[in-house]
Amino acid sequence: MSMSKVNVLRKKYLKFVYERYSYKIKGKDLKIFFDFQISSNYEKCSRSICFKPEITIKNINKKRLVKTGDRVLDNFVFHLGLMEIPSYWKATCSPIIEIRAGYLDKKQIKWWKDFILNGMGQFFYENKINFKSPNFLKITSVAENCSPSKLAKNCSPQSLTKNFLIPMGEGKDSIVTLESLKQKFGLKNINCFIVNPTKEHFKILKIAKIKNPVIVERKVDLVLSKLYQKGFLNGHTPITAVISNLAVFCGVLFGYKNIVMSCEKSADEGNVKYLGKIINHQWSKTSKFEKKFREYTKKYLTKNIKYFSFLRQLYEIQIAKIFSQFPKYFPVFLSCNEARKTKSWTKKPLGKWCGKCSKCLFIWTILYPFVEEKKLIKIFGKNLFEDKKLLPIMKQLIGESKYKPFECVGTKKECLTAFYLSWKKSRNKMPFLLKYFENRILPNFCSFRIFKV
Ligand SMILES: [Zn+2]
Repeated sequence: MSMSKVNVLRKKYLKFVYERYSYKIKGKDLKIFFDFQISSNYEKCSRSICFKPEITIKNINKKRLVKTGDRVLDNFVFHLGLMEIPSYWKATCSPIIEIRAGYLDKKQIKWWKDFILNGMGQFFYENKINFKSPNFLKITSVAENCSPSKLAKNCSPQSLTKNFLIPMGEGKDSIVTLESLKQKFGLKNINCFIVNPTKEHFKILKIAKIKNPVIVERKVDLVLSKLYQKGFLNGHTPITAVISNLAVFCGVLFGYKNIVMSCEKSADEGNVKYLGKIINHQWSKTSKFEKKFREYTKKYLTKNIKYFSFLRQLYEIQIAKIFSQFPKYFPVFLSCNEARKTKSWTKKPLGKWCGKCSKCLFIWTILYPFVEEKKLIKIFGKNLFEDKKLLPIMKQLIGESKYKPFECVGTKKECLTAFYLSWKKSRNKMPFLLKYFENRILPNFCSFRIFKV
């Protein structure tokens, strides 16, 4: 039997190395650089793969930066690099990750290993990787024990005088957080944080009247795209963790006490069981990750920042109900991921709701009970309930298929609820999907016990 692609790559590329990090001020910005390396066991030195990702934090406050001090900065930047590892490590899934850029103690190593094994679940599942095999992953730290982490623990960063920093997506969730905090605490106490802003981001900020957002540019090394074309491994990485880590750093750099995420209760439901483990596309949005990350941050990065999710107690459909009260955002919000996809840089992103994916149907359905149909058609360009091609996706959403789509969608129960409420709303002229729901799904539920929305 021939060896699988994964095993060939793991054998050839035994070790992934986090070599070093560096940073400098350039103009108004803080520029951060990382060096990763994967060396081949067969071809000496000459053929190792190098990655040099970059992060730019825009419009830095230089006085604060100086006051923050090298120790704290070094430690944070070192950790930003650790968070970037999964995105590059996945190309070869090497059995060893060697950390040379800084020191990690045993507990930290355990945390990072757990992070990779959980956060990369979907990647393991989709590439049929046995993450339970013996010696699957070893993380070693070879730097000397005078770690910046150890030093930083006892030095508390300067005062955090500003209130809330809200990492923004382009979807409804962060808009709901932003508007809720705005109503409660006033515009002057909040600001937005954006990684790689798009046109939609700026439109949202304009409507929200946010003038000076904290902006980070995260540049992925394009060596990755060349590797994918050559058949190296590719897959989903826990992006919310990367954003969280950057946001906490910016909290220190710009003086914000609270990092307010918009992860909801629905994110806790996984997609599929694989090798005895629940695989969750949204793993870094779960309450479990939130807790683990908060504890790690307090212990190894900074004691003073509060990292939490404002929407944790709410289901997606409840957030949709709140969002329906802010129609000014209807023309600009965009959470269809197909809209952003470049197929590893081979095509131009669509830039609007595709109307074909699970995310589109999900958002359409949870908004439908609360928003006029003609307004929804204006957002999505058509009536999604009329589209027969979406039936298999509807079945996936409500749990009539093997697994839930690998997208940020709600729980099966709340999807059922959303279809039920939509069905109730449109009794007069029933579109295709709701007719199907009426005939084939509804009879299976003698009493439709729905949770209160
Ligand atoms: Zn879509």
